[in-house]
Amino acid sequence: MKTNEVWVYIEQNKSKINDVSLELLGKATDLAEKLKVKVGAILIGNNVRSLVDKIYSYGADKVYLAENPLFENYTTLPYSYVVVNLVKQYEPQIVLYGATTTGRDLAPRVASELKTGLTADCTDLQIGDYVKPSTKEGDKLYKDILYQIRPAFGGNIIATIVSPDHRPQMATVREGVMKMKDPDPKRKGEIIEFKDELPKILFVSEVIKKVQQEKSVDLKSASIIVSGGMGVGSKENFKLIHELAHVLGGQVGASRAAVDAGFISKDHQVGQTGTTVRPKLYIAVGISGQIQHMAGMSESSRIIAINSDPNAPIFNIAHYGIVGDLNDVVPKMIEAFKSIKK
Ligand SMILES: Cc1cc2nc3c(=O)[nH]c(=O)nc-3n(C[C@H](O)[C@H](O)[C@H](O)COP(=O)(O)OP(=O)(O)OC[C@H]3O[C@@H](n4cnc5c(N)ncnc54)[C@H](O)[C@@H]3O)c2cc1C
Repeated sequence: MKTNEVWVYIEQNKSKINDVSLELLGKATDLAEKLKVKVGAILIGNNVRSLVDKIYSYGADKVYLAENPLFENYTTLPYSYVVVNLVKQYEPQIVLYGATTTGRDLAPRVASELKTGLTADCTDLQIGDYVKPSTKEGDKLYKDILYQIRPAFGGNIIATIVSPDHRPQMATVREGVMKMKDPDPKRKGEIIEFKDELPKILFVSEVIKKVQQEKSVDLKSASIIVSGGMGVGSKENFKLIHELAHVLGGQVGASRAAVDAGFISKDHQVGQTGTTVRPKLYIAVGISGQIQHMAGMSESSRIIAINSDPNAPIFNIAHYGIVGDLNDVVPKMIEAFKSIKK
């Protein structure tokens, strides 16, 4: 049955839905509205039925539910079997996944099984037309297909990737890239149960023990972030960044160069290959503002940049810029904020 729906794979762990799935439901509702189709959510797990109302509230019209004690832990073969069979049965036109460890394992497996395309780490998704030039019949027009937009060649170009001839069109998106919409608890939907027989061969591997390490910092929900870059100079000098963040009640972020130099751990990295953040205030200290860093913080409500180079690209997006040596400026800011607090 061809539904042509827009689907989101709902990632859950111990019955807690990963934020990226809720963010994707918001994006899926925008895409589905344009396409005039419904939003479907794929939910696989054990005892996960209680999550269905939440999934409706974030925008799903239907939940394709596969519940089974054998789905207690994510393993590639059974989960991809369910997704592949649901797709074959209901023929959605788009399937979206979080670019998490699970999504990065599951989505390529599903894509290769269905012989369709997959674009990883999209930063935007849009609907539009595409003209394929020089086919045998001349130019061929494809209406309303998914533009899968992402940085390419080290972030130097933004590529729009299309999958005109194969369905479903599939993409992964990293956490924090799409804005989560407010839930509407009054929304209701329909459950479609997956009850197919599960071949024994799917369960060749077993999860014996799960060890989870919590992140040392939660940048995504911070309303103030003070980030340090290569200009900070050393791990020792990074104490200035920690101190400024502390007096402001904020979290500490960093550029990749600062992380690579060993000034701070990777959990603090902001940017294309770090965390995408949208705080109320982002203070960039000794960060030049390369495109890969800005990809992760440019949507902050207010940006203050401190840099000794007046031509640093970060000043192009900063709301307030301070040209100066961070070793002079930051201690003065710390003192000023401390005295306001008194
Ligand atoms: C595929 C790919 C993915 C990437 N992903 C990311 C990512 O997720 N996040 C990220 O940040 N980068 C990422 N990068 C790296 C990125 O291209 C830059 O190399 C990096 O952001 C630079 O970090 P920086 O601004 O701290 O260092 P630099 O570019 O070296 O800038 C240091 C700045 O400090 C200033 N400065 C120096 N001394 C002082 C001082 N005393 N006072 C004030 N200012 C001073 C300088 O004027 C300069 O502007 C990625 C690169 C690639 C290719």
